[in-house]
Amino acid sequence: MNYLTKNFKETQKLGKKLAKKIKSGKGAAVLGLQGDLGGGKTTFLQGLAKGLGIKEKILSPTFVIMKRFKINIKHFKNFYHIDCYRLNSPKDIEELGIKDIILNPKNIVAIEWSERIKKILPKSAIIIKFVFIDKNKREIVI
Ligand code: ADP
Ligand code: MG
Repeated sequence: MNYLTKNFKETQKLGKKLAKKIKSGKGAAVLGLQGDLGGGKTTFLQGLAKGLGIKEKILSPTFVIMKRFKINIKHFKNFYHIDCYRLNSPKDIEELGIKDIILNPKNIVAIEWSERIKKILPKSAIIIKFVFIDKNKREIVI
């Protein structure tokens, strides 16, 4: 599906909507967010997190690669926000135990810049692409 959002709130809303649609599977529910810097990946995840009942604000992690939030929605217990922007090698993220995290069906895992760790992504991952159109417009493909 293709969406055009005209401000950051619309992008958050889209993320919030997706939160309700995440389904359980064999392993974790994995979302791979790709595309332009400033494209709205973190903004989208702010809405998604809200939809998952997370009160804390989702930020662009500057030094942190991975952050865990507790959730309690359907059978999901953890939301992991991962940002691969500053990742030097996929090994760095493997050291954080990402493989086990992705295998656990209790987890929802959202990965910004997931194109950098393609090999680790499960086939079932939902890929979301962000395109910067102009200052306030973004194209989002889910
Ligand atoms: P990314 O994580 O992809 O690098 P961010 O979500 O951190 O991007 O940043 C997007 C920036 O663009 C934010 O400052 C946000 O307020 C702004 N913005 C303006 N219009 C939009 C829009 N339609 N959707 C998402 N963000 C927007
Ligand atoms: Mg970001």
